[in-house]
Amino acid sequence: MKTHDKRGVWYEVQQTAHHAPRTKIHHLITPILLAFLLMITTRALLAQSEQPPIPQVHVVAEGENLTVIATQYGLTVEDLLRVNNLTNQDVLFVGQELVIPGGNGEAVATLYTVQAGDTLAAIAEQFNTTAVSLVESNRLINPNTPPTVGQTLSLVSRTGSAAPQPVLGQPYLVKSGDSLLTIAASFNLSPTVIIAANQLAYPTYLFPGQRLRLPATTPYRDLPGDLLDVAVDPLPLKPGQTAVISVQSVANDPPTGHLGDQILHFIPSESGHIAFIGIDAFTPPGNYPLGIANGSQATFSQAVQIAPSDYVTQFVTLPETLNALLDPTVRSDEEVVLAPIFTQFTAERQWSGLFQTPVLSSTFVTARYGDGRSYNGNDVISYHSGVDFAGGIGTPVVAPANGTVVFSDVLEVRGLTVILNHGQGIMTSYSHLSESLVTPGQAVATGETIGAVGSSGLSNGPHLHWELRIHNVPVDALQWTERPFP
Ligand SMILES: [Zn+2]
Repeated sequence: MKTHDKRGVWYEVQQTAHHAPRTKIHHLITPILLAFLLMITTRALLAQSEQPPIPQVHVVAEGENLTVIATQYGLTVEDLLRVNNLTNQDVLFVGQELVIPGGNGEAVATLYTVQAGDTLAAIAEQFNTTAVSLVESNRLINPNTPPTVGQTLSLVSRTGSAAPQPVLGQPYLVKSGDSLLTIAASFNLSPTVIIAANQLAYPTYLFPGQRLRLPATTPYRDLPGDLLDVAVDPLPLKPGQTAVISVQSVANDPPTGHLGDQILHFIPSESGHIAFIGIDAFTPPGNYPLGIANGSQATFSQAVQIAPSDYVTQFVTLPETLNALLDPTVRSDEEVVLAPIFTQFTAERQWSGLFQTPVLSSTFVTARYGDGRSYNGNDVISYHSGVDFAGGIGTPVVAPANGTVVFSDVLEVRGLTVILNHGQGIMTSYSHLSESLVTPGQAVATGETIGAVGSSGLSNGPHLHWELRIHNVPVDALQWTERPFP
């Protein structure tokens, strides 16, 4: 077994630093697993491809020079200079990729989920492979078509690691009047470093708005304008989920954007801006455009995949006395009443961390979010827009997170209902209550009792119907009890 190339080792060191409690056993198991994967999967994938071998690449780290690197691989400095088209006058920069002559990148078969902002070239760079081999092994059409966010690619990494290796650098947008020399001088760099990092011709012509990658020790993504990062979480997206779209840029202007038909409402976050968005349970699987505009600097556009859901149909029998409430206009009238409440937006975030479940004494779910509803054997006309919890009449209902009461009243379908605003477009509602203990405008804290379980409205027995809506789109509230947002 060949030793890991420098790139892989460097990455593992970084990982270890971030996850200090990782045990030594992990370090033993990982190479064994990789070796096994390599034997059973890589050979098959490799056999399909008849491309020339992909060379081993060394990514220059802080403090390294050609002598250090040459010694590490048992080479001479002259070997490195020749193969990489460098002269002795050239200065190495952190993150620069050097081809190691005679080396063959160690192959590891792996799977990769396409992230927002990825191009095939950028993915290939992170795995020391080529866009052409990604096209081949995934039966894609064209190496220049951006892959869909959330899509899984199978690939052979040539870094010796199954994980993507970070590409380093910082973006610089060329201004009018800039030249290679003025930019190099203002960043204390050699012009040849900028040429090498951007694969520019020499002499080169720069134009205003052109994006250059300058050496830096921060992760670099090839995005438009001054964008530093765009991310969609979680991936792949499924109907019923809450998604967080985050954007970082140099100027940190508030971005605008959309995913499919939905407008993204960006709010400042620790590292830039984020937007919460709900994916409706009836969203057909497919590709949806994500568009982001960052002031006048950049527009970003890429398709995001929404995977199929696994919801089923529930058959609910209701007594004839409640039949009038099954009239679709009764439901839609209620939505009209609730829309102005659910669409209220307050910028302050009131929650932090995980949500609690709203019924503490009996947390078992009798009907989950998203399942199609057939009442009395009729067609599926709606999906279950909340989560039902079992509970006897009078069981306390508690606030799952800090919030402000924005509604406490009786509705035809939902019965006695309380709605809490948690800020930033996140609302929760509590229906079929027997009692409400709160009034609109009141602030409530996590765990505070806001009402009691009942069977008011369209209900076939005592239970709590709990909903979480994002800008009025109902999503699965249980996701908020399983992972923190953002
Ligand atoms: Zn329900």
